[in-house]
Amino acid sequence: MSNTNETNYKSLAGGGEGTLNSFETLKEKSNYLRGTIAEGLQDPITGAISPDDQLLIKFHGSYQQQNRDVDSERKKQKLEPLYGFLIRIRVPGGVTTAQQWLEIDSLADKYGDKTLKLTTRQAFQLHGVLKRNLKKTIQEINKSLLDTIAACGDVNRNVMASANPFESSIHSEVAEDAKRVSAHLTPQTNAYHEIWLDGELVAGGEKEEEEPLYGKTYLPRKFKTAFAIPPRNDTDVLSNDLGFIAIVENGKLTGYNLSVGGGMAFTFGNTATYPRVADIVGYFPKEQLVEVAEGVVIFQRDHGNRSERKNARLKYTVDRLGLDFFRTELIRNKGITLQTAKPYNFQTLGDKYGWTKGENGLWHYGVFVEGGKLGDRSGLNAKTALREIAKIHTGTFILTGNQNVVIAEVSEEQKPQIEALLKKYKVLHTEKLSQLRQNSIACAALPLCSLAFAEAERYLPSFIDKIDEILKAHGLLNTPISIRMTGCANGCGRPFLAEIALVGRAPGKYNLYLGASFVGDRLNKLYKEMLTEEQILAELTPLLADYAQTKQKDEHFGDFVIRKGYIKATTAGLNFHTL
Ligand code: SF4
Repeated sequence: MSNTNETNYKSLAGGGEGTLNSFETLKEKSNYLRGTIAEGLQDPITGAISPDDQLLIKFHGSYQQQNRDVDSERKKQKLEPLYGFLIRIRVPGGVTTAQQWLEIDSLADKYGDKTLKLTTRQAFQLHGVLKRNLKKTIQEINKSLLDTIAACGDVNRNVMASANPFESSIHSEVAEDAKRVSAHLTPQTNAYHEIWLDGELVAGGEKEEEEPLYGKTYLPRKFKTAFAIPPRNDTDVLSNDLGFIAIVENGKLTGYNLSVGGGMAFTFGNTATYPRVADIVGYFPKEQLVEVAEGVVIFQRDHGNRSERKNARLKYTVDRLGLDFFRTELIRNKGITLQTAKPYNFQTLGDKYGWTKGENGLWHYGVFVEGGKLGDRSGLNAKTALREIAKIHTGTFILTGNQNVVIAEVSEEQKPQIEALLKKYKVLHTEKLSQLRQNSIACAALPLCSLAFAEAERYLPSFIDKIDEILKAHGLLNTPISIRMTGCANGCGRPFLAEIALVGRAPGKYNLYLGASFVGDRLNKLYKEMLTEEQILAELTPLLADYAQTKQKDEHFGDFVIRKGYIKATTAGLNFHTL
């Protein structure tokens, strides 16, 4: 592992562009992410923690939120907002045991809002955990051999891998590689153990702690990593800062194509910010994997913009400095020269639903979880169903990058029992849902996300009911089309890689984006702004009718709207805003 040094940190001020932003100073003074979090947890007067600690606690896998549904009522009663904490549980590659599933499910009931959110990065999220229960909850998560460290914050986050490691030996190998990269890029600070697990306290300044890869100020911004195995791009690998596309030759995993500089978020009204699809920069043999991953992190650590957080992601560093410089730095830092990228072919970004049989004869059942939200609603008891299955299941559960779950490693003997439970709780028959719904994603948004302008997860299901009517009228219910809805442009649900995207601008109003590819390698573009539901349906109806009548064989909707001139193709992040 490369050591960080003074020179690195002197060069950190925005890649030489101005002064450090205040978050950089906060990180540096935080004593490796301790801040005053431990003291804040003890304060019984408020359900909140200090503004600085709200930033630092992200590195520990938690966000402070407030329930906006009850804001006005609390105000009338002269109470502070109802604060609660989101806890994101890191699950590298998304694989959990049945026992872990039961434990997380019970924590959601005991300390959270009785729902489980499956995220688009193969993590669990608990919502609405009160401050007084935060430490207990994190301790219990760790007892189940999962953790929350680096699930958020300016570090490498949960490493994603293609959804089912049990599908084939190649899938298992890639999943193991994802775990190795995840372990290697995890921060080393003791702060997490001290604050949450009552580990031995390291008094500030007395014992010098080391963070060998990240240093005291960690990365300039969050950093996301994913693996994908063509032809399935179920991790949206090109939306990540760092991506690895498996190259299989003669039945063997020989290495990876490296992609760098993907990212989804932008800020409305600020065209210096934009989503970006990652560049494929070359191929390397498998043995170099960890060194390559570290080399990319070092590049961003040393050259990322630490003046302006809105331009701090690797995607901006790559556009500012260029790929040639990136390659030169990889040689300088790690002695690795990339080879020419190898051919690969993505055909879908969706999940497999229903039963499939793996190479080793075990069965896997892909369950569609609408909006990634597991809670028991009338008529659909998915949370209970998965809990009951976990009680008898001898295999594993896998969280997918599309907010779904795979009940994996089911024996031939156990298959009927599991099928009976799925039927009892009405979670069978995903194939009866429209392909649009099967390829939908929604972020959490209201009521808990403070950045949300509009609904997403709570609204998308009923909105899809309405589009389904249009699809039915035009015989398109079985045509795969991707749709994603988010409450703002922060990109948590990867909206800019959906063929139809709705991004919240104000309560009940959305920007409509069209023209992304179905395989996750081309961004969409703004079609119309600030539309109500009625207006969105009025815009989509003639487009879908035309698509049904004049689409070419196997042509996807995103490609069709470009071919027919409804919208221009976005060929690079830098022209996302060019209409
Ligand atoms: Fe919140 Fe925006 Fe992320 Fe949705 S995309 S969860 S509204 S920050």
